[in-house]
Amino acid sequence: MQVQAAVLDAPKAPLRIETLELEAPRDREIRVRVVATGVCHTDISVIGRPFPVDQPIVLGHEGAGVVESVGRSVTKVKVGDRVVLSYNFCGECPSCQRHAPSYCQYFFGTNFLGQRRDGSTALSRRGQPVRHHFFGQSSFATHCLCTEHNVVKVPDWVPDHLLELLGPLGCGIQTGAGAVINVLRPQLGESVVVFGAGAVGMAGLMAARAVGAGTLIAVDRVPERLALARELGATHTLLADGSTDVVASIREITGGGADCSLDTTAVSAVLRQALDCLGPLGRCGFVGGAPVGATLEVDVRDMMLNGKTLRGIVEGDTNADTFITHLLRLQAQGRFPFEKLMKIYTFESINDAIADSLAGLTVKPVLRMPR
Ligand SMILES: [Zn+2]
Ligand SMILES: [Zn+2]
Repeated sequence: MQVQAAVLDAPKAPLRIETLELEAPRDREIRVRVVATGVCHTDISVIGRPFPVDQPIVLGHEGAGVVESVGRSVTKVKVGDRVVLSYNFCGECPSCQRHAPSYCQYFFGTNFLGQRRDGSTALSRRGQPVRHHFFGQSSFATHCLCTEHNVVKVPDWVPDHLLELLGPLGCGIQTGAGAVINVLRPQLGESVVVFGAGAVGMAGLMAARAVGAGTLIAVDRVPERLALARELGATHTLLADGSTDVVASIREITGGGADCSLDTTAVSAVLRQALDCLGPLGRCGFVGGAPVGATLEVDVRDMMLNGKTLRGIVEGDTNADTFITHLLRLQAQGRFPFEKLMKIYTFESINDAIADSLAGLTVKPVLRMPR
C-alpha cells in the first residue's frame, strides 16, 4: 500500500515527507495506522549521525495508533485494537530469556539498522529499498509494521482522545519513569535529583513523586523547564548556568547528599555531578546515548567509602506491556500527568518540531498524522 513517510536521505538533512510503498505484513508482523508519534532525542541523534545508521531511512519510535492488518501467526492484537509501539528485541537471546529485553544482545540490530533480521525492509521508493523497522516501527509515517514484541495494547478504559498522546510512553516516558521505579527505587521520603528536565527527566521526577519520594530536585539549563518541573512536583530547582555549584547546593538542600540521582544528559561532566551529589549508599542511574567512546572518571574512594552505586539503564528496565498500563492508571488518577510535557505538531511540521526540541522550547513534540 502507499503511505506517507518522513525520509532521511543523508546525515543532517531535513526530513522530507514522501509517498512510499509499504509491504503487507508478514506472518508475524502487524500493520498499524499511526495516529501520532513522539519525537525522541534518539531520532534527532540519528539524524546528526553519531550512530552508524544507513540512509535512506524512516525514523520514529514513539508511535501510537490502531491495528489495521495482522499476519497469520499474530495472536496478541487484532484489527481495530488501539496500540502503543515500544522498542524491539529478539526474544531469544539470554537477556530476553531472563525477561530483560532492553539488554537484548541484538538491541542495536533490532532497533537501529532499519531492517528485519533477514536483512530485508518493508518500505520502498520507486522500487528502491528504504530502511524501515527502526525500533521495530519507523513511526514517522502514516502506517508502519511492527511485531508482537513491541506492540502494547491500550486498555479499553483509556479514552480515545488520549491515544494521540500515548506514543512517548513507548520510549522516553517509560525510560525516565522506569529508571526511577524499577532501578533507583526511592523509598518513602528519600530524595531524588534529576539532571536534565527534558521528557525523560520529567518522567523520572513525576515517577519519584508518585512513589512517595521526599525532596525532589531538578537541574537544567533552561529556566522554563525548571518552572514546569516545579509544577510537576519538584520541591527545588537549580539552574545549571555555571554560576551555581550544583553539587554543593544539592548537598545543602538534602542535608549531606541525595539518596538517588538520575542523569539524562549523556554528558560525562554532568554524570560526575550526579555521582558526587549523592550521600552514603546513594544510587545514581544514567540513561541517554553518550557519544561512542565517552568515558567517565570517578572518585574511587568516595564511591567505595560511601557505598555508592552507578548503573546504566536502557528503556527503564521495563516490560512495556505491564509498565505502560501502570503508567496509564497513574495518569488517570492525576498522579502522572505526562500530557503536560507534550505539544502537538502537524506531521508536515516535523522539522520545526525537531528544531523546537533541540532549542529546549518543547519538552516532548508529538506529531499528529493526517488521515
Ligand atoms: Zn534478545
Ligand atoms: Zn527514544
